[in-house]
Amino acid sequence: MSNLTRSEWEAMADSLSINGRAWINGGYTHAESGETFDCQSPVDGRHLVKVASCDSADVDRAVTVARTTFESGEWSRLSPAKRKDILQAFAKRMENHAQELALLETLDMGKPISEALNDDIPGSINCIRWCAEAIDKLYDEVAPTGDNVLGLVTREPIGVVAAVVPWNFPLNMACWKLGPALAAGNSVILKPSEKSPLTAIRIAELAEQAGLPKGVIQVLPGFGHTAGKALAQHNDVDCIAFTGSTAVAKQLQVYAGESNMKRVWLEAGGKSPQIVFADCENLDKAASVAAMAIGYNQGEVCTAASRLLVERSIYDDFMVLVKQHMHDWHPGHPLDPETRSGAMVDQIQTTKVLEYIEAGQQGGARLTFGGRQIMQETGGFYIEPTVFEGVDNSMPIAREEIFGPVLSAIVFDSEEEAIQIANDTIYGLGAALWTDNLSRAHRVAKRLRSGSVFVNNYHGGDMTVPFGGFKQSGIGRDKSLHAFDKYTELKTTLITLT
Ligand code: NAD
Repeated sequence: MSNLTRSEWEAMADSLSINGRAWINGGYTHAESGETFDCQSPVDGRHLVKVASCDSADVDRAVTVARTTFESGEWSRLSPAKRKDILQAFAKRMENHAQELALLETLDMGKPISEALNDDIPGSINCIRWCAEAIDKLYDEVAPTGDNVLGLVTREPIGVVAAVVPWNFPLNMACWKLGPALAAGNSVILKPSEKSPLTAIRIAELAEQAGLPKGVIQVLPGFGHTAGKALAQHNDVDCIAFTGSTAVAKQLQVYAGESNMKRVWLEAGGKSPQIVFADCENLDKAASVAAMAIGYNQGEVCTAASRLLVERSIYDDFMVLVKQHMHDWHPGHPLDPETRSGAMVDQIQTTKVLEYIEAGQQGGARLTFGGRQIMQETGGFYIEPTVFEGVDNSMPIAREEIFGPVLSAIVFDSEEEAIQIANDTIYGLGAALWTDNLSRAHRVAKRLRSGSVFVNNYHGGDMTVPFGGFKQSGIGRDKSLHAFDKYTELKTTLITLT
C-alpha cells in the first residue's frame, strides 16, 4: 500500500497534528472536568498529546445525545440503503486517510508500520464496508403460523450501544463493533483504551464528514474505572460491546446486573493451543507459523498461540525449526517498513511480560530462546521473542494470558492427550492443529473447545466468519452476519386476520 521509507515515516510523524479531545455531539470537546492524561509513544517514549480524561459527567452528556439521536430516527429509521451509502463513504474517507491512521496506530501502541498499514487499517475499512454492504440485503421473517394470524419476526436496532475496546488492535476492534452496530441503526459511544485512543478520536470526525448524523457516533477517551465503568453502569445504555481481558469482562456483567440489565457482549482473553502431530508433512511451514502465531503484534494478540503442543517423536527436530523461525520476530524500529515485530504497548505491559519470563524460569521451565528486554536506548519498550521448553500445562506460563511474545512448548504422546491438554484451560478462543490425516483433522477439530479452529494454518480469520470465544473467552460473536445479532432486538408481531 505504500513504499515510504523509515525516514519518510519519521518526518511524517514529526509533523503530524494529533487531536486528544473527545468527540461529543458532533464536535471536539475537552472533558468536563478539564482533566487530561499523557499519551506517550512506546516506540521511543516521546510525548504525543494530552488526551481528555472523560468520566461520568461526559458519559451522561454523551448518552443523552445518543438517546436523543436514536429516538429522532434520523439514523435509526433511515432506510438501510441510505445507511449503506453513508457507511461506504465513511470507509472511503478512512481509506483516503490510511497512512495517517496507520501512523497514529504505530506511534500510539508500537506495532510495526507495515502491519498497521497492510493489516489493521485495511481490515478496519473492510469491516465497515462489509457491514454497510450487508445491511440492505438482510430480510426479516414471516412465521409459519396458522391461516388466521400473521406472524412477523423483525429486527430492530437496540438503541444506545457502548463499545469498550482494548489497545492491541485499536481501530480494528473498534470497527468490529462500529460496523454492525452502526449499520443496524444504533447510536454508538466508543471508549477506546487509555493506552491507544488516537485512531478512535480521529475516525469520529471522518464518519461525520462522510454524512453520519451528529450524535450517532461519539468517542470518549478515558480510563476503564471512570469512563468505562460509567458507561457500563449507565441506566440508559442498552448494550455494552466489549473486547478486553476476562477479568474486566466479568466486572461488566456485574455492572449490567447492578444497573439496567443491558445486553453485555464480551470478547475476552485466550491461551490458545497449537497442536503439531508427527503426521504433519510440512514441518517447516508449521514451525514458521508457530513462530508467527506468537511473534505477530509482539504476541499482544487475543488468539496468540502461546501453547505449542508437539508430539514426542518429532519434538526435538521441530523445536530446532521453531527457534530458527523465531529470529524473524526479533524487534525492530516500528517505523522501519521491514520491521515485523515492534514495541510492547507500555512499561506496565513490558514489566508484566518480563515477570512471567522470570516466573517461568523459577517454576522449572527451560528458557531456550530470547527472554530479554532490549533496545532500551530508544526510550521505547522491546522484548525478544521467547521460548520456554519443558513446560507442564499446570505452570502459570501455560495457564495465564501473558500477552507478549512468550511461547510455552509442551510435549504429548497421543491424540487423546493432546486434546486433553489443549482443552485444559479456562479459555476457548482459538486453537490450531497440524496433520495430513484428514480424519484426524476433523476428529480433533470437533473436540477442541474453541470458537475458532485452524487446520494447517493459523489464520487471521475473515469478515465472512464469526469470531469469538467458548468458556471464559467470551459471549457473542464479532464479524460475519452473526455480529448483527448483538446489535438488534428480535420482535414478534402477531396480527389477527379476520
Ligand atoms: P482491559 O480489559 O484491561 O481493557 C479493555 C477496555 O476495558 C479498555 O478500554 C479499558 O479502559 C476498559 N476497562 C478497564 N477496566 C474497566 C472497568 N472496570 N469498567 C469498564 N471498562 C473498563 O484489556 P486490555 O489490556 O486493553 O486488552 C488486552 C485484553 O484484550 C487481553 O486479555 C486480550 O485477550 C483481550 N482481547 C480479546 C479479543 C477478542 O476478540 N476476544 C481481541 C483483542 C484483545
